[in-house]
Amino acid sequence: MSNKLIDLRSDTVTKPSDEMRKFIASAPVGDDVYGEDPTVNSLEERVAELFGHEAALFCPTGSLANQLAIRMLVAPGEELLTETNSHIVRAELGAGAVFSGITTRTWLAERGLLRAEDALEIAKPDSGPYLVSTTAIAIENTHNFGGGTVQPIEEIKKLRNETQKLGIAMHLDGARIWNAHVASKVELKEYGNHFDTLSVCLSKGLGAPIGSLMISTKERVQKARQWRKRYGGGMRQVGIIAAAGHFALDNNVKFLNKDHERAKSIATAASKVSLKVIDPKNVDTNIVGLDLSSMAITAPELATQLKEFGILTGPLGSKYLRLVTHMDLTDADIEIVNKVLPDLLDRALKSK
Ligand SMILES: *Cc1c(COP(=O)(O)O)cnc(C)c1O
Repeated sequence: MSNKLIDLRSDTVTKPSDEMRKFIASAPVGDDVYGEDPTVNSLEERVAELFGHEAALFCPTGSLANQLAIRMLVAPGEELLTETNSHIVRAELGAGAVFSGITTRTWLAERGLLRAEDALEIAKPDSGPYLVSTTAIAIENTHNFGGGTVQPIEEIKKLRNETQKLGIAMHLDGARIWNAHVASKVELKEYGNHFDTLSVCLSKGLGAPIGSLMISTKERVQKARQWRKRYGGGMRQVGIIAAAGHFALDNNVKFLNKDHERAKSIATAASKVSLKVIDPKNVDTNIVGLDLSSMAITAPELATQLKEFGILTGPLGSKYLRLVTHMDLTDADIEIVNKVLPDLLDRALKSK
């Protein structure tokens, strides 16, 4: 056994490879606030084109890309609907309210899985002078806290159809849209087609150190560029970072399938102890969410035990432990996890 830690806390923990670093070192750069960084410009054009949209804006984080996007769709005092456990309402620290005066209502979905009717049931556009009007709906794909759930394209289409009749805009939080694309084989352009704005991350499974993009029409992206600067996100020779994004798109999408297989194998190993902890059928992509509510162990306790074996995991709730696979793991790492995790679960089950 090596001394190297097996880090399953997130797919954000990947480090730039030597090849990526070489590519970064040779990137042409300029002042991006003047629109003069050729590497940023080509990345923005490339990603917009990938999703069939007019324009894109390079951002330091996915949270900023999300916040700029929803700001373009929802006026102060108006309402954004989303699923209860989505990143936009749970993990961006109220930014929509703080920066944009956006109010939110949410619906709860098992594993975050989209059913168009859940969103439509609470959608209230054009609510007149006394009630809040819904102007946008945000969908997360894959759904992070739902356990890497891929949203069914049929439900997205149904929702798009109905919301277009109602005049409600749609935003995609596509931090892990690459995983959804690889798992479902739905084209990126098809995803792009159903949304007015999108955010995508290069810093998750694709292995870039930093970088996300907000994608939409030329007009919205132009406006979002001003707001990015206003928030202090105007960057200078940032082609240094955008180059990593190009490298990630060129080279790293192909590793995602492997991440998904490995997540499935971890889930399968854990499910042999108890299907209540995880059903491998529910592992769509690279996230394994263990439900410990039937076990005599909490997530922080199990995380501590795993750490003794050099395995780092994310206790995101008292009974919810998240394991995320990514391109910096090896087959040997997964073998260790698939031995240690079931052993510890088994011990917890027997001590109950
Ligand atoms: C990671 C993530 C983001 C963006 O996070 P940043 O840390 O701000 O880059 C947005 N949405 C989802 C679903 C995410 O998992």
